[in-house]
Amino acid sequence: MTTLPPPSKVQLGLVIDLDTCVGCHACAVGCKEWNAGGIAGPLTDSDPYGKNPSGVWFNRVHSYELQATDACAGSALQPSQPAQTLHFPRSCLHCETPACVTVCPTGASYKRGADGIVLVDEDKCIGCGLCAWACPYGAREMSPVEGVMKKCTLCVDRIYNENLPEAEREPACVQVCPTRARHFGDLGDPESKVSKLVAERGGVALMPELGYQPVNRYLPPRPRRAGEATATSQATHEATETIDEQALPTALRWMHRMLSR
Ligand code: SF4
Ligand code: SF4
Ligand code: SF4
Repeated sequence: MTTLPPPSKVQLGLVIDLDTCVGCHACAVGCKEWNAGGIAGPLTDSDPYGKNPSGVWFNRVHSYELQATDACAGSALQPSQPAQTLHFPRSCLHCETPACVTVCPTGASYKRGADGIVLVDEDKCIGCGLCAWACPYGAREMSPVEGVMKKCTLCVDRIYNENLPEAEREPACVQVCPTRARHFGDLGDPESKVSKLVAERGGVALMPELGYQPVNRYLPPRPRRAGEATATSQATHEATETIDEQALPTALRWMHRMLSR
């Protein structure tokens, strides 16, 4: 059991715009490229060029097709509208009260008091996998090569790196995103650019009802221009709440739960 530091004023995290993410995977590849050569959490691969390649990725992008059903009639999601593709990048959300830390028996998983980043001390990790079991967001990745747990470091070796030009002191995934769908900053400061963006676009936390207080935020996709939808994220929010969740396939039920928060 590992204890958490007192809540810090600074909460560094990512804001990901689901409206402009095009699912190109540049963020996943950029993350892998930076971290595979880094010292904070090298990403390992097994059989990378063989028949069964597998490996560790801090950031994975999932794609879903959203199709409104009759249950959506009367909402901003019109059944007559064409299906919409939604790309969902997934990485650690640097929760304020993370189960992955409190469940860790050795203190290997820890949260930094100064900036809220959640990290793994690989020298202390015994590879028991409890943190991966405890994380409800599937954000932890066990390295079969090293036998230790890996996770997004929020590019801690970039954001404070004085050897880099100041403009490059942000996460690799943010730097490479071609549509500028990823933003980095202090979500604990209501005056920061990222906090203002979240307020303006109705950004949401994933499954806040679980109580782990994720710091990262997702900006919901805007309604399609076709149809009678109005172009406000609030409308999207209200509309998704009217969907009959039970009528949706499992994957969409999960997405709906996240996006309707
Ligand atoms: Fe989406 Fe940007 Fe990642 Fe491409 S790089 S998948 S647009 S978040
Ligand atoms: Fe831990 Fe998962 Fe939260 Fe990241 S998303 S801090 S791995 S519980
Ligand atoms: Fe990967 Fe860094 Fe982005 Fe985390 S912040 S997903 S470690 S590139």
